[in-house]
Amino acid sequence: MPKKSINKKAKILSKLKREVEKCQLCPLSKNRTKVVFGAGLPTTKIMFISEAPGFWEDQKGLPFAGRAGQLLDELLASIGLKRKEIYIANVIKCRPPKNRKPTKKETEACLPYLKSQIEIVNPQKFILLGEIAFKVFFPRKKLNYFRGKWLQKGNKKFFATYHPAAGLRFPKIREILEKDFIKIKRLT
Ligand code: URA
Repeated sequence: MPKKSINKKAKILSKLKREVEKCQLCPLSKNRTKVVFGAGLPTTKIMFISEAPGFWEDQKGLPFAGRAGQLLDELLASIGLKRKEIYIANVIKCRPPKNRKPTKKETEACLPYLKSQIEIVNPQKFILLGEIAFKVFFPRKKLNYFRGKWLQKGNKKFFATYHPAAGLRFPKIREILEKDFIKIKRLT
């Protein structure tokens, strides 16, 4: 990808980020320390989408800044990927209190930002981490049936797996995540 194109996309993303940093569309904006916009390579072909910021993400303004992020880094390294080669965004940009699940209203309010990020980055493949991210793209499907498989929608490919935080809690899920990442490697 020519450098000019990276710079152009980075510029458009920065502008959107500044807009999101001022967002007050839902009550989550009231308690945030920092908006977690997303980060990574603006021209990547592979975008990871997860749920919402937790404590450390809210403090630092960066996605996957805590223990789940360490596991994500390990999983990425296991298939030869680095964060700087992918793009990571959450469905929700502000931390829900006590890390509770985002509500439907909060998701609806925040989703246009993710959609804009997708339009700008225009990746070919999406890795959906957990149920919330999966439901945004496949509202009528069940994650348990489709986890660990590549799905095609339009001209894009989607791979759904568990959220890394679940892998921290349950060793069995961590094992599945490790196997799922090998499947991701085969198609990247
Ligand atoms: N969990 C998420 O869903 N996103 C993050 O950025 C961190 C933890």
